Amino acid sequence: MNSEFDIIQQYFDWQPSSDSVAIGIGDDAAVLNLSHRQGQQLVISVDTLIEGVHFPKNTPAEAIGHKALAVNLSDLAAMGAEPAWFTLALSLPESNQAWLNDFSAALKQLADQYNIQLIGGDTTRGDLSLTLQVMGFVETGKALLRSGAMVNDKIYVTGTLGDAAIGLAMLQNRLDASSYTQKARHFCQKALNYPQPQHCISQIIKHYATACLDISDGLLQDLGHILNASKVGAQLDLSSIPLSKSALELGRNQALPYALSGGDDYQLLFTVGPEKEQQLQNVLKDNNNKDLKISCIGKIDDKNEGKITDYLGHVINTAGYQHF
Ligand code: ADP
Ligand code: MG
Repeated sequence: MNSEFDIIQQYFDWQPSSDSVAIGIGDDAAVLNLSHRQGQQLVISVDTLIEGVHFPKNTPAEAIGHKALAVNLSDLAAMGAEPAWFTLALSLPESNQAWLNDFSAALKQLADQYNIQLIGGDTTRGDLSLTLQVMGFVETGKALLRSGAMVNDKIYVTGTLGDAAIGLAMLQNRLDASSYTQKARHFCQKALNYPQPQHCISQIIKHYATACLDISDGLLQDLGHILNASKVGAQLDLSSIPLSKSALELGRNQALPYALSGGDDYQLLFTVGPEKEQQLQNVLKDNNNKDLKISCIGKIDDKNEGKITDYLGHVINTAGYQHF
């Protein structure tokens, strides 16, 4: 059995690869250099993942390590921020070497990919839960907020929606997985366990978007946050909601509720003024990266503040996943 200190040293004491970290893991607290960050603001977000709430029991350790950091990186992407550092508070029922190995390897792989440094944390015994705090930087005054959407802005989303929620429904036998191709099952499972932070596209969007957030609790509920913060309404074109080939195996009508109200998408939802829309489309086309897919799904209006209507003017119920 490893002590808490052995666990930290063996699995989490990675060599910092950035001189922004003056003192990293091993002392009472981390010490960070901020001198080269003039003209920038620090962006901080924290998220907790609890077994049985945010991921099902028996989720592979590798998936937990990936997802815990991915959902936090997604918050930085939603702000248009560049990742810098993170902390990890880990509560574990036991010191399981194989579990820690897979968990820390997946965590490190994603951290390296997005150039974010682990600078500290806490390790305790208890039910499996993880709290990660991420820190990043934006140019002063340039953070993408929920409150900037304006009447006549177009509403866009990245990627496809509903895949993770379909993956979870298959896992929990609410959908009969055997009715779908192996490719679709695999794709939806991967969307659930290995969400990809939309950092790359956020660095482009940030020059054009008026408001932005990441979709974690379902499109309708999260769009509601933008509408309330911006004091506007929205008209959605439900036929434009982007669905993957895998989701479409359910049929469009069956898949749509997962895309509207299922959780765990971690795609970005953002608004763009009509004068910048074409510019953004051109930049993405020039970029020639097929992963940078965006879809226009509606527009901001001034009709029903905080409410979402369809093209017939009917109000759409915005209830997504709520913890309480
Ligand atoms: P303290 O008793 O002062 O809280 P700890 O023993 O909890 O110190 O932590 C010792 C060092 O290891 C600190 O630098 C802390 O940030 C780091 N640390 C502890 N747990 C983790 C973890 N899960 N991941 C990364 N760093 C950790
Ligand atoms: Mg401690």
